[in-house]
Amino acid sequence: MLGILFEGVIVVKNKRVFFLIGIMMLVSFCVASLISIQSMNIIVGKAQKDLTVSIMSQIYNDIGIELTKPIVASQTMANDYFLNKYLENPNFPGTPEETEELVAYLNTMKEGLGYDTVFVVSNLNGNYYTMNGVNKGVDPANDAHDIWYKLFVDSGLMYDFDVDVDEVHNNNWSVFVNARVLNDNHDLIGVCGMGIDMTHLQGILKKYEERYNIKVNLVDEDGLVQIDTDMINIESAVLENAVATFDKDKSYTYSETEDGGYVVSRYIDSFDWFLVVSSEKNNTTMYLSMYFNLAVGLAIVFIILILGLYLIVKRDRRALELETKIDGMTGLLNKKAFFTEASIQSKKPDNVPYAFIFIDMDNFKNVNDTLGHSVGDEAIKDVAEIIKEVFGTDELIGRFGGDEFVVFLDNTPAKRVVARLKEFCEKAHLSYGKGTNKVEISASVGAVICEHVPVNDFTDLMNMADEELYLAKENGRDQYHIRKI
Ligand code: GH3
Ligand code: MG
Repeated sequence: MLGILFEGVIVVKNKRVFFLIGIMMLVSFCVASLISIQSMNIIVGKAQKDLTVSIMSQIYNDIGIELTKPIVASQTMANDYFLNKYLENPNFPGTPEETEELVAYLNTMKEGLGYDTVFVVSNLNGNYYTMNGVNKGVDPANDAHDIWYKLFVDSGLMYDFDVDVDEVHNNNWSVFVNARVLNDNHDLIGVCGMGIDMTHLQGILKKYEERYNIKVNLVDEDGLVQIDTDMINIESAVLENAVATFDKDKSYTYSETEDGGYVVSRYIDSFDWFLVVSSEKNNTTMYLSMYFNLAVGLAIVFIILILGLYLIVKRDRRALELETKIDGMTGLLNKKAFFTEASIQSKKPDNVPYAFIFIDMDNFKNVNDTLGHSVGDEAIKDVAEIIKEVFGTDELIGRFGGDEFVVFLDNTPAKRVVARLKEFCEKAHLSYGKGTNKVEISASVGAVICEHVPVNDFTDLMNMADEELYLAKENGRDQYHIRKI
């Protein structure tokens, strides 16, 4: 595309047209971007759903692994012969030693399994034992904190999860796994289990929340938050948006919210909780803004490219213009460029002196005829160098054609002009070849020095100088003739 653009720019001579093309291309680019954004909206919307469902599956697995371990551990404890023996004994605890033995058992379990709290409740005497000893008597009728015991016993479940503050673990929010302990007749003799500090589970959720800019919760079927990375929401916030999506029979439900966000929920059978993944702002917006930023970035690059291209073209055009003004062999101005410049400079105020000089090499044809054109070319270049050296590169110097040169000396008094002409004629004594092939050349010069009379027509000036040159030739060459006006 840039190749075409470049070619287009080269043929465009008008700056306005150049910018018009640039603006048209920019507008086309913006329109194309907008269309792409629309398409992106649709594609990203679909990708967003797939991505969210896949993220939720990963969280489901991680949480599942973390909470299945304590289920297995509590079931193992509940079936432990040692524990059964104590809970079944109607006289337990008969002696302080027996209590110590149970406490030691709980300590072993805590250390072995690595949980924060390990407990057992005797259904017979209502005592709540932990690894620290008898903690309290469980009394659901009078202590609201113990209501969990009654609820669990009445539920008939073999195990369940309960989120509560752990009184033997700095009152930290914890997830308790409760397991039913039955005797051989399947009568309830106690409840055992462990407490897991909420921070362990929060770590898992936080990892996903930060990585995917989402909110992850475990909630009960009423939407009451059970696990949240923010402590303040635990057992107090209700995810009303999510409850509407709950469906225990579906592998997941996905729904978009009014504010452009979404809620995905999945039932976890073994915990009887719902895993809820939500985002307040649909990440589609995030992707779109990313795409928008990219488009703006590209537009800026595009503008810089066009500007860069413009500057290159401008520079090239200047070089091209210069090329058309320059005589290829000598590097001096060509005839046309010289007269254009010189006629401008000759329109001076009356009192500023200047000179117009015509130079024609003498017997130049001999060089060509005797030594060939290539030596003739070298001679022309040598003369050009001498002219530059004597009159100065700041002055206007041109090659009129063949072996003729022209010089315009601006603001130069007559005395200095004469000195330069004298010096030039001396230096223009050049010889080429050897022996019988030796060819010598010199220069004849006709000059007009303007000190007083303004010249309106530059051709007049040229004709006057030409006449002086003619006189120099007529008088034997190798000399300069001056006319002052
Ligand atoms: P005069 O003393 O009267 O000036 O005679 P001249 O031999 O110098 O010949 P004249 O000025 O009349 O003609 C210039 C010659 O220079 C004609 C042509 O053969 C030769 N010439 C013109 N342009 C070039 C060029 O680019 N290269 C070469 N090698 N010779 C050129
Ligand atoms: Mg000549």
